[in-house]
Amino acid sequence: MDLVQDHIRAMKPYEAVESSEVLAERAGIPPDKVVRLNGNENPYSSAPKVTETLGSYDQYNRYPDPDQHQIRAVLSDYLDVEPERIVAGNGSDEIIDLTLRMVLAPGDRILDPTPTFGMYAICANICGGKVVSVPRDDSFEIDVEATKLALDSRTRAVLFASPNNPTGNIAQEWQVRSLLETGVLVVVDETYYEFCGQTVMPLVREYPNLMVLRTFSKWAGLAGLRIGLGVMDPEMAQVMMAVKPPYNVNVGAEIALMASLADKAVLIKRVQSIVAERERMFSLIEGIPGVKPWPSQANFILCQLPEGKGRAVFEGLCRRGVFVRHFSTPRLVDHIRASVGLPHETDALVDALSDTMKELA
Ligand SMILES: *Cc1c(COP(=O)(O)O)cnc(C)c1O
Repeated sequence: MDLVQDHIRAMKPYEAVESSEVLAERAGIPPDKVVRLNGNENPYSSAPKVTETLGSYDQYNRYPDPDQHQIRAVLSDYLDVEPERIVAGNGSDEIIDLTLRMVLAPGDRILDPTPTFGMYAICANICGGKVVSVPRDDSFEIDVEATKLALDSRTRAVLFASPNNPTGNIAQEWQVRSLLETGVLVVVDETYYEFCGQTVMPLVREYPNLMVLRTFSKWAGLAGLRIGLGVMDPEMAQVMMAVKPPYNVNVGAEIALMASLADKAVLIKRVQSIVAERERMFSLIEGIPGVKPWPSQANFILCQLPEGKGRAVFEGLCRRGVFVRHFSTPRLVDHIRASVGLPHETDALVDALSDTMKELA
């Protein structure tokens, strides 16, 4: 192990979502009884055209196009930005990784308005970068003044999600502009954009230091095929194209992307169902004594639990076959994040949560 750099050896693995088989074994139930609300996945699977097209394609022996011509063209249409601003990745996770490798030298810093998505810190640490957490305020809004005060000569980027994961709230445009005016690279991760319709995408033409991330994992149900993207300054995009692995987006993912956009109407209908289900789920959770759901613009709801009860509630749900996300950070230890699934999954969550709360009362 002394072959490995110290800061790499110190890395803790990202707590990724486990397979339904592993979860089922833990709860002692069959895999098809697992209620899987821990990964913000789309419960409706991918668009019908995706499976059709993938099954009939017969050129998997060929490498994908390293310049992403077709991908950039169709994404340009979907996103209404110039193709030369777009870089597609093996999930938006890859774009986060590429970006930080491009901008961070060992000892450089990123600012992280916490709580937020964990991958920013992980990727920064791999680069030997330091992560400076700037706590969000009591309603999980970004503290813009504190963030600006935390900037120093070694700060290379500010990264956050909007809607934020796991809190579900949106960064206001004035907040994003205020951070952009400092000149630092601002990465706005709009993974959940399609569930809320609010975006800072038009600002990429105004600010060369803005990068916007999107993905097909959540709204389009392609988490398992890995396709995400970044929209940025064209010169930055050109550099990223040179840095990325040549075949980072595999042919299956490329086909699935095209088919999803061809089937957009179906997917948007499903997004609308998920949004409606989110509102129903919110009301039901609000009715459980001791549980406070936070309003969400995404496909999940953060639920605040009585002090000291977070871990026990999470475990109570696991025993009942309902898997949600629990975070061990001090600020979120008494919270769980539940993804919006199908209506019967909401009902199972609400029943299990009510039972668990009664048991712990
Ligand atoms: C799920 C998620 C991602 C990862 O998206 P992929 O495209 O699947 O890599 C990125 N950012 C946030 C905030 C997420 O919640």
